[in-house]
Parts: sequence; structure tokens; C-alpha cells
Amino acid sequence: MSDKWESCPKCSSNEVVSRNKLYYFLLWLAIAACMLWVGLLIFWPLFIAAFVPIIISVFSFMKKPVNKCRNCNHKWQP
Ligand SMILES: [Zn+2]
Repeated sequence: MSDKWESCPKCSSNEVVSRNKLYYFLLWLAIAACMLWVGLLIFWPLFIAAFVPIIISVFSFMKKPVNKCRNCNHKWQP
């Protein structure tokens, strides 16, 4: 599921975390779906609050993927 993997350009560590935008998009969408269900069945204000993770999921999809090094906390565009 991850994009082209690479080591850190700063310290050449292998402890690199790739932030896949599709992963975050689906994660927020799953949270929104859960909130919609709970809102529909139990607690209605949660139904309205579910629009927040939907908006976040759209924004996270538009954002560029970022690689982050766990060794030196360096962030860069893959
Ligand atoms: Zn590094």
C-alpha cells in the first residue's frame, strides 16, 4: 500500500514512516462512518459532528504525501 520506499536523506536511517494519503483518507472516512452510525442509532449530535472527519478526509487526500524519519524527525517529500 505504501509508495516508493526510501531511506532518510539526512541520516540515511531505515526507520522511515511513509504517510500514505489513501490510508489517512480511508481512516477518516471509517471514523466518519462510525460516527454516522452511532449518531443515527444512539446519539444524534454525533451525526452532525461526523461531517468534521469527512472534511478532514477530503483535505488529507489533497495533501501531498510526506516521509518522516523516526531517527532524526526529518520530514521530506518523497
Ligand atoms: Zn533521519
